[in-house]
Amino acid sequence: MTIGAMLGDILESLFKKPVTERYPFERKATPERLRGKLYWEPEKCSGCQLCVKDCPANAIELIVLDKVAKRFVMRYNPDRCTFCGECVESCRFDCLGLSSEDWELAALNRDSFEVFFGKDEDVETLMAQIASQYPGNTKE
Ligand code: SF4
Ligand code: SF4
Repeated sequence: MTIGAMLGDILESLFKKPVTERYPFERKATPERLRGKLYWEPEKCSGCQLCVKDCPANAIELIVLDKVAKRFVMRYNPDRCTFCGECVESCRFDCLGLSSEDWELAALNRDSFEVFFGKDEDVETLMAQIASQYPGNTKE
């Protein structure tokens, strides 16, 4: 490229709007089918464990508190998840989905990569069990 052509490009770009997006200050709507963070609806879950067996990344675990009363907690590790959607396909009760809105998963510490889904009382019960088994290693 000649100096003249280069100067022309520089002058032209001085008066053009930037083509880059000013993320995170400006955001575009995400596509409806974007595969973001997993969500789980515990009320619908039968405890069949199909989603866990079919997950190729070992990113989910169904913790059974009381099978008869259908008290389950799901541990989800977003850092292992490949967002393949296999668990969503496997579930016959439509308990699982990949959010198109919750997708900004970067974090500065590893704690946010271990998520416990479930009814509040069930998650609290599990946290109390963990705290009693591993004092000093409690999850918030
Ligand atoms: S989306 Fe894929 S990798 Fe992520 S939890 Fe489901 S099956 Fe596992
Ligand atoms: S496949 Fe569905 S019903 Fe079965 S354990 Fe997973 S979330 Fe629950």
